[in-house]
Amino acid sequence: MRFEVLGHTVGAPLGGACAGYLVHGDGGTILLDCGPGTLERVWRRGLAGRLSAIVLSHAHADHVLDLVPWSTSVTSGELEHRAGGPLPPTPLYVPRDHGPQVLDALVVALGLREDRFSGAFDLREYDDRDRLSIAGMELTFARTAHPVPCFAPRIDDGRATIVYGADGARSPALVAHARDADLLVVEATYLDPDPGQHRYGHMTGEEAGQVASQAGAKRLLLTHLLPRPDENLENLRRARAAFSGTVDLAREGLVVVA
Ligand SMILES: [Zn+2]
Ligand SMILES: [Zn+2]
Repeated sequence: MRFEVLGHTVGAPLGGACAGYLVHGDGGTILLDCGPGTLERVWRRGLAGRLSAIVLSHAHADHVLDLVPWSTSVTSGELEHRAGGPLPPTPLYVPRDHGPQVLDALVVALGLREDRFSGAFDLREYDDRDRLSIAGMELTFARTAHPVPCFAPRIDDGRATIVYGADGARSPALVAHARDADLLVVEATYLDPDPGQHRYGHMTGEEAGQVASQAGAKRLLLTHLLPRPDENLENLRRARAAFSGTVDLAREGLVVVA
């Protein structure tokens, strides 16, 4: 599998897109999260309308907001124009106990048609009891330590394993879920622990390194970054001090082969 970074910023697309990652397998491509800036990057790659599925880790704005322009009639019209005809809706997996509620609220708040999302996507729900088979890849999930229901996918194609930690504080559940992963993608939102970190459920680069080390992962990719290059480099240094495997900072277009 190949893991490709479309966006890596936290909260707002400052200096790059928010959360959006492609997992390319032999049988197709999965998009993980759809934060601001994701659609344009998927479109530029010619992959809109051709994805095997979109899987949302959770329904915070920096992970879902591009579903709004993605589901507009402009996008569907241009997709049809490119393809020369109608395309089947892309399967969209959302967390069962928060995703539909957020999509319904967006419809009401923005005055959209009731079938805005259900018409544009093949809407499906999941949680940590489910096992999904998508394009030859098996997905299982662990709930992360985050203020809203958030799930970290573990993706296995029979040859390699990629774990995307999504948003969440360090937790034993994430360590267990990431056991022996070939690639572990973990947030490094903060440089230093502070009370807010626990309130909002995020990690530092050092904690990300500790998770990778405890899980026995082979490679670590730090993401969900603030637009502070010096702090991100320091987070990288601290993660490397805590984990002996390869560690990189996410950047747009980076592709890691697992
Ligand atoms: Zn979040
Ligand atoms: Zn986030």
